[in-house]
Amino acid sequence: MHIVVLPGDGIGPEIAGATLRVLDVLNARMGLGLTFEEHEIGLARLARDGSTFPESVLERARAADGVILGPVSHSDYPARERGGINGSALLRRELDLYANIRPCRSREGLPHYGRTPLDLVIVRENTEGFYADRTMHQGTGEFMPTPDVAIAMRKVTARGSARIARAAFALAATRPRRKVTVVHKVNVLKISDALFLKECRSVAAEHPEIATDDQLVDSMTAMLVRDAARFDVVVTTNMFGDILSDLASELSGSLGLAGAINAGDDHCVAQAQHGSAPDIQGQDKANPCSLVLSAAMLLDWLGARRDRADLRRAARAVDGAVDALVRDPATRTRDLGGALGTRAFTEVLCAALERGL
Ligand code: ATP
Repeated sequence: MHIVVLPGDGIGPEIAGATLRVLDVLNARMGLGLTFEEHEIGLARLARDGSTFPESVLERARAADGVILGPVSHSDYPARERGGINGSALLRRELDLYANIRPCRSREGLPHYGRTPLDLVIVRENTEGFYADRTMHQGTGEFMPTPDVAIAMRKVTARGSARIARAAFALAATRPRRKVTVVHKVNVLKISDALFLKECRSVAAEHPEIATDDQLVDSMTAMLVRDAARFDVVVTTNMFGDILSDLASELSGSLGLAGAINAGDDHCVAQAQHGSAPDIQGQDKANPCSLVLSAAMLLDWLGARRDRADLRRAARAVDGAVDALVRDPATRTRDLGGALGTRAFTEVLCAALERGL
């Protein structure tokens, strides 16, 4: 199983290094046969090669069994013509990674910020919606007809909506509570979100065993704070999913604990929910859990598709080890109120895995 690792910008190299350490331990203990190939991307690559994400990197990612992608500081990149390519957006589009799966759960013993504990997964459509920079065949979905008027377009298709709904219902079928909540703003986006909702409802009709309801996105934010325990799988369009998942992961304890994958039918990219956190770059302060847990989700995705129970076991072992460490204030990183730096936390995580496997 060959994995391409792209550390990225900001805290990316620190948390990617931590993730590789953890995967090395799993490989050694469990004989998983994982092999790795690392490529520099982002601002460092721009300085060296004139592009933040050369074509050759895309080809290596396409050829791999999976990709681990660190955060990218794309808002600091120059224009595309001068080599500024958002690798995260490019991979989502080129590898057709239509499902961004973002679990958010509180962990025993670690304070959470909502009124209830939570254990939900946000299934975010990842290829269309309000992401005007990447949804069009040519040009972008943003333009200025006059200097004082700016227009952004939101793209919703029946195919895109149906396939993300199918991903959400398939996921809900594997979870004990078997429930899907569709989040939209159909009272305002009366055509585009009506289409999204219609497609979700027709997939729901194929799954009578799964309870389905829906929420307006604004009331959803209040519900997440008030009573997040009522949600299981949440399916929504691209930008609503992006915003809701930051809220839900922070409510669960910290954005630094939130793993995620971008998955399509043939490819999967592990990517932390948070950004490149330039404010703490190079200071050994980053919590590596989000990328480590994302990599564990990638192992689980590969295990399910390649019939490799050992990869799925490895993913559960990582999740369990994180649970055990964050329960104890002495083994928490700073974002969780602890004292451990990135490197020290990685070492206790590896030691916990070595003990437990
Ligand atoms: P982007 O626009 O790429 O999402 P951002 O700077 O707006 O980037 P983040 O990079 O996610 O957002 O950072 C938001 C805050 O959370 C920052 O204060 C950052 O230091 C903190 N943060 C993000 N990730 C981590 C992490 N892994 N460990 C500790 N703190 C983090």
